[in-house]
Amino acid sequence: MTVKFGPSGNSKSFYDEGFKSSVDMPKWLKQKGLDAYEYSFGRGINIGVETAQKIGRAAAENGIALSIHSPYYINFGSKDPEIKEKSINYLKQTIILADKMQADRVVLHPGSVGKNSRDEAFGNLVMSIKQAIDLLKELNLYGKIHICPETMGKKNQLGTLDEILDICQIDETLIPTIDFGHIHALGRGAINSKEDYEYIFNRVENALGRFRLDNLHCHFSRVEFTEAGEKKHWTFTDTQYGPEFEPLAQVLAEREMSVRIICESRENMAEDALKMKKIYNEYITKLN
Ligand SMILES: [Zn+2]
Repeated sequence: MTVKFGPSGNSKSFYDEGFKSSVDMPKWLKQKGLDAYEYSFGRGINIGVETAQKIGRAAAENGIALSIHSPYYINFGSKDPEIKEKSINYLKQTIILADKMQADRVVLHPGSVGKNSRDEAFGNLVMSIKQAIDLLKELNLYGKIHICPETMGKKNQLGTLDEILDICQIDETLIPTIDFGHIHALGRGAINSKEDYEYIFNRVENALGRFRLDNLHCHFSRVEFTEAGEKKHWTFTDTQYGPEFEPLAQVLAEREMSVRIICESRENMAEDALKMKKIYNEYITKLN
């Protein structure tokens, strides 16, 4: 078992090389030496069943672990019945297409606090997550597709590390998405050392156990933040922004974890994912 690395979406270089369709991404990624890919429905679910199946087949053929990011406009923090119903329907569409793509993970932004109290919004989220688990069972996809609620970077969003761990305790099929850039931004520069990464992993292990720690879904990028939290994602060369990947690579190697790390750098996500993989492999070599 080893850590898998890949990009969120398609690098600028993929298009610069003349490629147009994400169907070609899995092969392109394998040739680069990567082993994961996150396809985003963030701004909308705009993929046909046939293309979804083609991407899924290409991912399987090239040994690329595929995850899908559900739409950003899903909001399980709301108490508005219409928003709740729309949100669960967007998630349903995402899950059905994820299955066509042979993806095993669906990343989810939990929603916003809005005008509710944080406790109320969290209560709404709990109800919707239970509904989502019933949905997986109805679709016969429980255990096959894992919903991965994400730690968020802005104060007005649900998704602190505590909230994500609480949510994932509802059912063992839920896998947290630990977005290190978001945790760093929400804590206004919270991740500065190997110990800071170890603290996060210890919290996950204590709340959810070793199996889910080992199978975590992770997002990584350098991130700019303000008082309100996350502002903008940057690349590996924008070293004025944290967090640093080196200490994370060290912890991953020492703990022999097999998490999946999706790079969310701007434009250079595949290139940066490869940089991460190289750094991680250096630590693995050092330890052996
Ligand atoms: Zn996300």
